[in-house]
Amino acid sequence: MDRQQVLKILTDTDVLMEGHFLLTSGRHSDKYLQCARIFQYPVHASKIAEHLARQFPDNSIDLVIGPAIGGIILSYEMGRVLGVKTIFAERENGVMTLKRGFEIPPQSKVLVVEDVVTTGGSVKEVIELVKEHQAEVSGVAAIVDRSGGNVDFGTKFICAVKMDVLSFKPEECPLCKSGKALVKPGSRVFKSS
Ligand SMILES: [Zn+2]
Repeated sequence: MDRQQVLKILTDTDVLMEGHFLLTSGRHSDKYLQCARIFQYPVHASKIAEHLARQFPDNSIDLVIGPAIGGIILSYEMGRVLGVKTIFAERENGVMTLKRGFEIPPQSKVLVVEDVVTTGGSVKEVIELVKEHQAEVSGVAAIVDRSGGNVDFGTKFICAVKMDVLSFKPEECPLCKSGKALVKPGSRVFKSS
């Protein structure tokens, strides 16, 4: 699968929308990304998971783990494709931890997955968790890398697509200047600029 095919899936599933958006930061953007939407369509999510899984050598992964919430379904899908066990990590009092009796066996080879990597914070916490259990990190896989190349996990990092989402201060926004209606994602309220 090449970048164009991945982008087609992301636009077909409304993960990636183009227009004129008001971000929660107050800035404006010509793109809006909501990765959770891909999991509305198992067929598409499976294709992405297969594409990511293919980039790791056979038998290099014993376990897949992702941080809640974004990494849970991708972890499951990757585990299904790879034929290995999958678990997820979640925060308790702000600390990434394993609950529900989930375990990371010592010396196991672990793949860490996440839907979108922006700062990479959650993934780094999961990597630390894997190391604390004396297990080995085989790599990191994400659907979208929007870090702009600014994260280093110290291991192999695979993504289905790299994407830079530009944002503007309202007073400097070229879309406002062109008169395009501003949309607040997730709402049906349209505000003219
Ligand atoms: Zn604008």
